[in-house]
Amino acid sequence: MTKFYRLRAPRQSRYTGHLSATHKWALPGLRCPECKATWAGGFTAYPGVDVSALTERGEYEVPRPEPFDEFTRLRERVRPLVPPESPLLPGTKFGPLVGTATGTFSPLFFYYAEMPLVHPEALERLRVAGVRGLRGFRTELRFRQRNPPELLELEIPPHGRLHPDCTPERPPRCPKCGWDDFAFPEDPILDAASLPAHTDLFRLSDFETIFIATERFIDTVRRLDLEEVDFRELPTR
Ligand SMILES: [Zn+2]
Repeated sequence: MTKFYRLRAPRQSRYTGHLSATHKWALPGLRCPECKATWAGGFTAYPGVDVSALTERGEYEVPRPEPFDEFTRLRERVRPLVPPESPLLPGTKFGPLVGTATGTFSPLFFYYAEMPLVHPEALERLRVAGVRGLRGFRTELRFRQRNPPELLELEIPPHGRLHPDCTPERPPRCPKCGWDDFAFPEDPILDAASLPAHTDLFRLSDFETIFIATERFIDTVRRLDLEEVDFRELPTR
């Protein structure tokens, strides 16, 4: 039985990296006629998805909430461009990261849940070592400094869920729009049956800011001495 770990940026770091950036396109937010929520909970980015060929591309450039039917129409237009079974929550990002970057960046840089970054050589070493499911994409970040580092953005799709036992107070999700309002539990348990077997790094599909890595990912990061991530094993059930 493989072990799973929650991965995050360390509380303290000698790296100073700062981003003022956003993805080129995103799904709008959503206003639900059923539960009345206005929300955008998608933190997943698909940096390799090019929306520019769609006639409605301008509709993906301005963050705003849309009524349910219009949101659904825009979501279904991009569905053929993303991996099958992507949840595509309101606010899901597409295309390269655009903006400015300053400071120094660790080989694995997970300070921004929407834009996990990696050095190209670190990505290559992880892949050669057999870590599965890692895809890095070119960014369009501008650096205001000499000798800027090359940074790729990792595409980390959502897979897997929390086990219901760790969220006893969680209300049912909205049957119309999927709005699912709950606090991340202090003692998370992963739902073993929902966890992917084909990739070593993913986000939780019911909490897209949470990164989960397999034992293989963690062991490899340790062995290659790649800075810098904190990890904690999570129980599964
Ligand atoms: Zn709703």
